[in-house]
Amino acid sequence: MDCIFCAIARGELGTKLIYEDEDVVAFEDLNPQAPTHILVIPRRHYPSLQDVPKDEIGIVARLAAAAQELAAERRIWPSGYRLVVNSGSEGGQTVSHLHLHVLGGRQMVWPPG
Ligand code: AMP
Ligand code: ZN
Repeated sequence: MDCIFCAIARGELGTKLIYEDEDVVAFEDLNPQAPTHILVIPRRHYPSLQDVPKDEIGIVARLAAAAQELAAERRIWPSGYRLVVNSGSEGGQTVSHLHLHVLGGRQMVWPPG
């Protein structure tokens, strides 16, 4: 399968991993939308959140736990940050491998576009 995020997780693209555990990796977004813009992904390929089987939904908590650690490390807490999971076409998802955006370092506005 030809998935860019799977390749990144396997270390094949030379993308620097800023967080790594058995099931989760994180790296900087190529086109940052905020001073801090990190992508947190499962090593396992799920095309979107909708594709995570109920008995594997704990992976989403693992992504959140990594985001929590990274937010502390990057000092975007307690100033604040935003987590985003774009899902499907109208959700704005462009890469079909589940990922959590961690955005911080500037004032976020609501609602997003
Ligand atoms: P989404 O629109 O939610 O699917 O987000 C995909 C994100 O992946 C975008 O913010 C892109 O900038 C980012 N992206 C795409 N390719 C790469 C890459 N090779 N390395 C880092 N980030 C990437
Ligand atoms: Zn993948």
